[in-house]
Amino acid sequence: MSESQEGDLIVVAGAGGFIAGALVRYFADRGFTRIRAIDKKPLPEWYQRTAGVECLCLDLGDEANCRKACEDATEVYNLAADMGGMGFIERFRIECLRSILINTHMIEAAYRAGAKRYFFSSSACAYNTELQEDPNVRALKESDAYPAMAERGYGWEKLMSEMFCQEYWAERGMHTAIARFHNVYGPYGTWDGGREKAPAAICRKVIEAKDRGIDSIEIWGDGNQTRSFMYINDCTKGIDVIMHSEDLIATPINLGSSKLVSINELANIAEEIGGVKLKHDHKLDAPQGVAGRNSDNTMIKRILDWEPDAPLRDGLAKTYAWIEQQYMDRKAGKRTIS
Ligand code: NAD
Repeated sequence: MSESQEGDLIVVAGAGGFIAGALVRYFADRGFTRIRAIDKKPLPEWYQRTAGVECLCLDLGDEANCRKACEDATEVYNLAADMGGMGFIERFRIECLRSILINTHMIEAAYRAGAKRYFFSSSACAYNTELQEDPNVRALKESDAYPAMAERGYGWEKLMSEMFCQEYWAERGMHTAIARFHNVYGPYGTWDGGREKAPAAICRKVIEAKDRGIDSIEIWGDGNQTRSFMYINDCTKGIDVIMHSEDLIATPINLGSSKLVSINELANIAEEIGGVKLKHDHKLDAPQGVAGRNSDNTMIKRILDWEPDAPLRDGLAKTYAWIEQQYMDRKAGKRTIS
């Protein structure tokens, strides 16, 4: 786990968003005193801010900004990307592809700054989509990314950026780490506005239905599509462990839960948490991504003797409670994150 010395500078890109914002808090809670957090969003729009952290508003698609961001860095974590749930990544492929500029400039800037380690947040969308055409999917193992047939746009950007990380190690000897996240959820994640992912969207729909006295919610697709969902605390711990493993240099590894659930099951759990039973209106022409996707955790268990294991029901209950508060705050005219 984190081995940096006090005084070492940790740089976290994308820190105005969900996962990187939680990662900043994670390192601050562990006593790191020099953390630089960066996002292109104006500071008042960041999902969370941690006291004592240097926060910069910079567009990291720009090379000069990446140099500023990485100045004096010991470790760099790149989690900045233009992304969202299926509704976003199926529609805005150019925006997703353009995130390649962020990683391309950040890794070079980190290298020039003499950073000791560099982390890239890849995605399960980098996997060959032809292996994910059945809801009873075989869990994806790391070698399943090639032969490549990644998710158009978003997935190809991830695959290409992974390759940059591998070549910076092979050619220049910079220690890089690459985690392929499977769906991450939790408090302080996007919950409305078009970029939200299934767990947050479903919690919001249940909360909304209850509040408005409606007896049904809309589910994208037939709801039989399957996924696994990792709670945010497992994600931040996993990033730390993967970054500091000497056995995983420049080696893409799954970071996700291996518990498969269908979207219908996910909705049932959210309804149980909300104490309601709702009808499901299936919107069959809505974006729904691959039919099934799960994380094969053989490699992470073998190398790190650990896998993400927060129970979905517990994590979803915390997420639901947080979104409910956001929903109520918004109704009361207070500022919220989505
Ligand atoms: P998020 O959208 O909440 O955070 C990403 C942040 O990056 C945003 O705050 C955004 O403003 C920032 N950003 C975008 N372009 C930027 C730029 N040019 N310069 C500076 N900042 C920029 O998303 P997240 O869920 O926290 O995802 C973090 C990383 O994890 C991303 O790389 C994403 O692709 C990856 N990932 C996430 C999931 C998930 O389930 N959330 C799954 C797989 C991979």
